[in-house]
Amino acid sequence: MGRRQRVAILGSTGSIGTSTLDVIARHPDRYEVFGLSAHDRVAELREQCLRFAPRWAVLPDVAKARALRAELAGSGLRTEVLDGAAALCELASAPEVDAVMAAIVGAAGLPPCLAAARAGKRLMLANKEAIVVGGALFIEAVRAGGATLLPIDSEHSAIFQCLPVDRSRWPDTIDHLILTASGGPFRRRDPATLADVTPEQAVAHPNWVMGRKISVDSATMMNKALEVIEARWLFDLEPRRIRVVIHPQSIVHSMVVCRDGSVLAQLGTPDMRVPIAYGLSFPERIESGASRLDFLGLQALSFEAPDPGRFPGLQLAWDALAGPAGSTAVLNAANEEAVAAFLAGTIPFTAIHSTNARTLESVDPGLPHGHGLEELLELDGRARAEARRQMNTLRVGR
Ligand code: NAD
Ligand code: MG
Repeated sequence: MGRRQRVAILGSTGSIGTSTLDVIARHPDRYEVFGLSAHDRVAELREQCLRFAPRWAVLPDVAKARALRAELAGSGLRTEVLDGAAALCELASAPEVDAVMAAIVGAAGLPPCLAAARAGKRLMLANKEAIVVGGALFIEAVRAGGATLLPIDSEHSAIFQCLPVDRSRWPDTIDHLILTASGGPFRRRDPATLADVTPEQAVAHPNWVMGRKISVDSATMMNKALEVIEARWLFDLEPRRIRVVIHPQSIVHSMVVCRDGSVLAQLGTPDMRVPIAYGLSFPERIESGASRLDFLGLQALSFEAPDPGRFPGLQLAWDALAGPAGSTAVLNAANEEAVAAFLAGTIPFTAIHSTNARTLESVDPGLPHGHGLEELLELDGRARAEARRQMNTLRVGR
């Protein structure tokens, strides 16, 4: 075997970030941690630095970076602490780095994803918002940079694992895709009571332990809407060829329905270390640490249609994909703002959807043909401002 792969983890203190470190720690002969990055949780980043001795640690906030430098002084580590927004892109595209785990939450992860793509890295994408916002620009950066884009979202990893390794065969293989969804914590709750749910109830996911934002998205099924958009770009498919089915047990992670009627599915226990390990080792497979699926101990696997009355946000994926370029960025921006407001206790759960739908309706993306990152970030800012305005009118109307 050749030299160890040098990995940079963007968002190393999060749920995906720590699971990635868990897999890497199982294979010290194959991987070394070149860089770690976090937004806050300086103490956790410090512990990770002491354990994995990265060459770089990145904290965009200058004061927090200073605090980390002080804490690491005298530890004997050679870790250099970088700060500022540009430092994330510098890490993602550093010549020493072979593979980048994109595990930041939200559109904030788009610039470093583009930097990694343009630098031709193995780009492991958990940060779905980045591709939802970036769209064609993201895919073009991957192509131009010669990067290898590997999905980490469990559904997209499942589909990727079912498809031929040779991408040129994908169009002839796929009739349509079926993304599975757990239905989240409110699958059986009376929709009339959804306005009363608390942030703590919304983040209590039945099958997965995840960051707070994606947990709320799972409860509204906006997570699945973002994943439909993600699948459109990852697999270059018309939106009508992407369907969603609720599968409460989270054992079948998604399916490819082939041209000949054959259905390929990927199964396993719900553990993100499986798609992470596959992203790290593709086309090989390595131990992930996940427990094995016990078929004899399984309850029935069941499937049901998502109820649009309970999960109105799901349809917004196809609406945004049918709209002018940039509409998916508008939807994502609105949702990030609305989820943050819900978690802060300033809007009710059901106002997340109203905010998303109204913002999507009111913002004309107006993206010029051949737009770049700057125009997208401007649009993201405009959509956030409109979402906040919508939330204010909702509050006044209550
Ligand atoms: P998390 O909240 O647990 O972690 C987010 C990480 O990003 C943290 O390290 C945080 O410090 C960092 N971060 C947050 N905001 C930042 C900013 N503005 N700039 C720089 N860094 C920032 O989230 P998570 O659950 O690990 O999810 C990460 C991404 O992976 C999300 O896009 C999510 O949708 C996706 N994803 C997560 C899971 C899961 O099981 N957790 C599954 C599939 C996809
Ligand atoms: Mg997913």
